[in-house]
Parts: sequence; structure tokens; C-alpha cells
Amino acid sequence: MVTKTLENCIVCGKLFRSNEGVICQSCLEDKESPYQKVKDYLFFHRGASVFEVSEATGVEVKLILKYLKEGRITVL
Ligand SMILES: [Zn+2]
Repeated sequence: MVTKTLENCIVCGKLFRSNEGVICQSCLEDKESPYQKVKDYLFFHRGASVFEVSEATGVEVKLILKYLKEGRITVL
């Protein structure tokens, strides 16, 4: 029998049923989204160009430009 325990997600702090791992399902999905990849990359590489970000994350330039336009990320 598998015992599921309630844990606090390390990202959003929400209680969730954890089988293994410390991140809830919605944060996990978020983490794998292209937006999150771009955001993470920019966090560590401030001032990277759109093309650098695209190259490093594998996210299409088109999509990165869309995030930019929406004001979700800042690229120099
Ligand atoms: Zn979470």
C-alpha cells in the first residue's frame, strides 16, 4: 500500500499530496513550460539576447518575442 502524505510545495507553498518530490503538480507543469524555461534562463543570464535565450532553452524566438510583447519577460 502506498501512503500518500501531505507536503508543502517548495515553490508555491500549497499543500499537496506528495508521492515523491517536493513540488506540486501545477508548479511541476509550470516548470516545464517554455515560459518558465525562458524566465529561468533570463534570471541567470541578465542581458541575454532573444537569440541567445532561444538557443539555450530551445524555445522558439517567436514565442520569446510573444512573452516580451506581453511584458512577461524583459530582454535587452
Ligand atoms: Zn506548487
